[in-house]
Amino acid sequence: MRIFLAGLIHETNSFSPIPTGVASFEEGLLVRRADPDALRRIEAQAMLGGVLAAARSKGDTLLPGLFAVAEPSGPLARPGYEELRDALLADLKASGPVDAVVLMLHGAMLAEGYPDCEGDLLTRLREVVGPGVPIAALLDLHGNLSAAMVDSGALLIACKEYPHIDYAARGAELYSLLSRRVCGELAWRAHWRRVPMLGIFGTSQSPMREFVQRLQTSETRPGLLSISALHGFPWSDTEHTSAALLAYAEDKPSADAAARSVLDELAPAFYGLREMASAKRLPLALALDEAETAMRNNRGPVVLADTADNPGGGAACDSTFVLRALLDRGIRDAALGMIWDPQAVGLATAAGVGAQLSLRIGGKVGPMSGDPVDLDVEVLACRSDARQRGFTPGAFEPLGAAVALRGAGITIVLNSLRQQVFSPDCFTELGVDPTAHRLVVVKSTQHFRAGFDRIAAATIYADTPSTLQADMSGLPYRHLRRPVWPLD
Ligand SMILES: [Zn+2]
Repeated sequence: MRIFLAGLIHETNSFSPIPTGVASFEEGLLVRRADPDALRRIEAQAMLGGVLAAARSKGDTLLPGLFAVAEPSGPLARPGYEELRDALLADLKASGPVDAVVLMLHGAMLAEGYPDCEGDLLTRLREVVGPGVPIAALLDLHGNLSAAMVDSGALLIACKEYPHIDYAARGAELYSLLSRRVCGELAWRAHWRRVPMLGIFGTSQSPMREFVQRLQTSETRPGLLSISALHGFPWSDTEHTSAALLAYAEDKPSADAAARSVLDELAPAFYGLREMASAKRLPLALALDEAETAMRNNRGPVVLADTADNPGGGAACDSTFVLRALLDRGIRDAALGMIWDPQAVGLATAAGVGAQLSLRIGGKVGPMSGDPVDLDVEVLACRSDARQRGFTPGAFEPLGAAVALRGAGITIVLNSLRQQVFSPDCFTELGVDPTAHRLVVVKSTQHFRAGFDRIAAATIYADTPSTLQADMSGLPYRHLRRPVWPLD
């Protein structure tokens, strides 16, 4: 088979203070078709591992097109989105006849004038290839499913796990269904339901753990091909922002009935988990009370997640609410990472390892970052080549320029490439042993658990007034369809 392979990946936070343009993708990953090394650079994306392994084992030809990934941030400027989209469409046309199109998308991408980038892109791709060429896309489960996305006829399969550790398995499934479709062995039909809730639902723990298993059991029913539970991305302010269930069944009446009945069971079941499955986020003062209790009762480190300043959801990652509170409480023996502060990294790097200096840390991007913290620190380490493991095995994310500092009994990691903490590597790469600290603060919502659960004596989710604040009633939604839980 000749497979066109492309991607346009951005989780857009309507309330993020960080603007997004083509340069944001250049800082992330922007592979152009003309790049002689395009396929190898796309293949380095560990999320596509399952797709690529399947394509190779079948001896298929992969024709690379635009592949663009940016760290989550605010809506794309209109010209930037149109440039990337049109480049991807032009790449498809330039690739000649193809048997299928495989895409990596997020599902919650917004641009000025385009509240549904994935729906727009899939619709236009369909216009290019016509009704006979199958399109398939891997999605992040934090996508907000729209009618346009489903109506494009594309096969959409989202990861099932949060942390997203299962892309390889989902990619293999997607490729297998797509291959059968190209060979004429299979035709599918999509069935979906909006599940009117907004939340963050980790699958590492009950009850979502069991719900994922239930999805997988349901997929084995006769006629069913795939079932995805989209959790939605609550901070994308669109009409279609919501959780949803999406099932693909064989294109025949008995399978239609099976798909309808499985959605009739699973949609209320998913909705019914909303209270129990939502991550419990304590206001910062209560979270620190709980952390101090846990620190007294445990020997290993207590991990406190600064969930609202997670750049993986579009936050600035330079908020100082937790750092300020640690200083005010006199909590020592804590490690905190990573604050995005290229300017402070530059100053500390210039001062060098062992230097003592007064440094202004964080609080620079806007009101949701809090005030900067002025602190006398010692520079413990400076690196320009540090990296961390992501949630997909084999994937590494460079940290950019990074420093470890120590002041007032707190070890702080700052870096220059805005990204969340996935792994203890963020500390160990700078010579900081998180297990030697009583408290470890990570700027992440849930992905950190894949790397930290094995060392955490306790895990506490804290809420702060940053971009991803848990109290959604405080967010200035204008387009969100109501009613929706927990707002109504
Ligand atoms: Zn996600």
